[in-house]
Amino acid sequence: MDNLQILWEYQQADMEVERCEKELKNTPTRKKLVKLQRFLQASQNKIAELEKMAVVKQNTLSDLETQNKALLEDLEDLNKDIGYYSECGDDELDQKEIEQLVKNTEKTYDAIVGLKKQVSKIKQEVEGSDKAVRELLQKMVAAKNEYDGLRVEYNKEMEGSSGALKELKEKLAAMEKQVPEILISEYKRIKGFRPNPVAILSENRCGGCNMQLPSGVAAAVMSSDKPVECENCGRILILK
Ligand SMILES: [Zn+2]
Repeated sequence: MDNLQILWEYQQADMEVERCEKELKNTPTRKKLVKLQRFLQASQNKIAELEKMAVVKQNTLSDLETQNKALLEDLEDLNKDIGYYSECGDDELDQKEIEQLVKNTEKTYDAIVGLKKQVSKIKQEVEGSDKAVRELLQKMVAAKNEYDGLRVEYNKEMEGSSGALKELKEKLAAMEKQVPEILISEYKRIKGFRPNPVAILSENRCGGCNMQLPSGVAAAVMSSDKPVECENCGRILILK
């Protein structure tokens, strides 16, 4: 058998290994596993994001608390002033000062009310995000249980099919030894950018890319002791 013919058969065995590997990757169980894994990963990212936001919100809350404390102190001081004025005689009262005092008290009070609204809004948001995290965690637990069950099932499936794959790979390795080194390394190089690196030249047409090639190529394939490659796709050409 000529070397190119051996290489062609090596390619058939190589395709068989690939087909078997692809089949193992695409069982319904494996697809479900991949889907669950993606869901778990996405949920984990979502939780991390929610937790990061919760930290920001907690910081805002503690800032607001500090502001609130300062405003309450202001209010207390203003109340003391009001107490002081209420004990004064009419002749001691300065109308303008009293107006300013009332204005300041109102302003401080409004600020406290505004702050309380902000705090309650943020607290609601924090609660909402806590709830979302809890719900996600529940879903993740369910997904993880399903994943673990499927994993056992998948491993059983693999035990059955991986024997077949192992056999095919052994056959491929044995065939590789029969192909001259120069052809194998060329085959592997081409495979880096093209599937099925060997193509049949038929009626001067490359069976890999379907390009019409010069008529002299067939003669070159027949007579050359080096592999002749398609000038378009780079595949090793053989005659059948
Ligand atoms: Zn080609």
